[in-house]
Amino acid sequence: MPELPEVEVVRRGLAEHAVGRVLEGVTVTHPRAVRRHVAGPADLSAQLTGLRIEAAHRRGKYLWLTFDATPLGTGASATGLDLALVVHLGMSGQMLVQPAAAPVEKHAHIRAVLDDGAELRFVDQRTFGGWSLAGLVEVDGSVVPDTVAHIARDPLDPRFDREAVVAAIRAKNTEIKRVLLDQTVVSGIGNIYADEALWRAGLHGTRIAATLTRPALRTLLDAVTAVMTEALAVGGTSFDALYVNVNGESGYFSRSLAAYGRENEPCDRCGALLIREQFMNRSSFSCPTCQRKPRRR
Ligand SMILES: [Zn+2]
Repeated sequence: MPELPEVEVVRRGLAEHAVGRVLEGVTVTHPRAVRRHVAGPADLSAQLTGLRIEAAHRRGKYLWLTFDATPLGTGASATGLDLALVVHLGMSGQMLVQPAAAPVEKHAHIRAVLDDGAELRFVDQRTFGGWSLAGLVEVDGSVVPDTVAHIARDPLDPRFDREAVVAAIRAKNTEIKRVLLDQTVVSGIGNIYADEALWRAGLHGTRIAATLTRPALRTLLDAVTAVMTEALAVGGTSFDALYVNVNGESGYFSRSLAAYGRENEPCDRCGALLIREQFMNRSSFSCPTCQRKPRRR
């Protein structure tokens, strides 16, 4: 699954190569890629055609495009101003900007012709991802798609309120890793970055959130921010060759992770062998010495 840094890499690629372009036509070749748009592929195409991409946005792992007034006047939406194109990357989704003459990728499920001769293509081998349209709503001073309205700000959001999130976490009588993965408390954190941040903060993921001190949670949230910022600096983290950035160039670099995926390797801090445990049906990696498990309650 792409996590926040991976999605941000895609967003930056779209900001550079697709923003300002007009969608001259949208063709859906695999209906599953638009299954979240209940009005269907023809409606999605009609609503998008003629709109100019105004900006590429992200909150947590959610990515969307907004539009300004339609210069061609052919869009079914009156102006496009109240519309968001939400891009679900799923497990393997890619947003590629390619010359229209470039060979079409085997798993290109949606193709949008841009007014500069390029095509914006949604390629998704595993078809968990797709495009859908949503209205825009204002929540807490930010305009977001209505389908994203329940998603909390992520740690890289300039308006992320660390103290408010610390308070929200301490109100949860459940495991801290579960809270980190709860996108309504703080967004953008997936399994990899949760394990990395917990390792840095020296906390075991099954510690109960409500029992952690404010300083410990500040340290943990700062670790989340740091690990994401570092991953972003090298283009995101992925073990999956399917992820490529908006230009089709691999934007995902395996970076050295301190905990995730390192079962039986020595801890960088203390040398103890890292362990793998199951949590929420996924593998969690931690140091048995630096991250003490809580006593059974
Ligand atoms: Zn250790």
